[in-house]
Amino acid sequence: MTLESSNLTKNQQTVLNILEKSTEPLKAYAILFDIQKKGIKSPLQVYRALDKLIEIGKVHKIESRNSYIACKHEGCNAKTSTAFLICEKCDNVTELKRNNLLSYFSKQAEKDNFQYRKHNLEIYGLCNNCKLKN
Ligand SMILES: [Zn+2]
Ligand SMILES: [Zn+2]
Repeated sequence: MTLESSNLTKNQQTVLNILEKSTEPLKAYAILFDIQKKGIKSPLQVYRALDKLIEIGKVHKIESRNSYIACKHEGCNAKTSTAFLICEKCDNVTELKRNNLLSYFSKQAEKDNFQYRKHNLEIYGLCNNCKLKN
């Protein structure tokens, strides 16, 4: 068990478990629906838990879909910046791991005298399954 997960509150752990078990990104209401069976009744508690999980990098938000996904990477440091590969056919979402986009974007931004802070990227195409079916 990592340090972070042992520091999670019960609510945070419950939300994280739901996201880890899910095969697809979940919207907040779907998490809420699931979690009500486990005794968390208030949406606010779910949002607070999600905020914290995002802050520590255990969960990422997919902005365009307004949904959440558990990070499957050991020691992921994508706390504010994310890059996802999204399949156009089946909606499968995979996090793009071990990329150097952060340094790439900050260098590019520098050329325009722009101070880079973060990015949320969504890359569209075909996942391995759909690619094989083509
Ligand atoms: Zn991650
Ligand atoms: Zn696919």
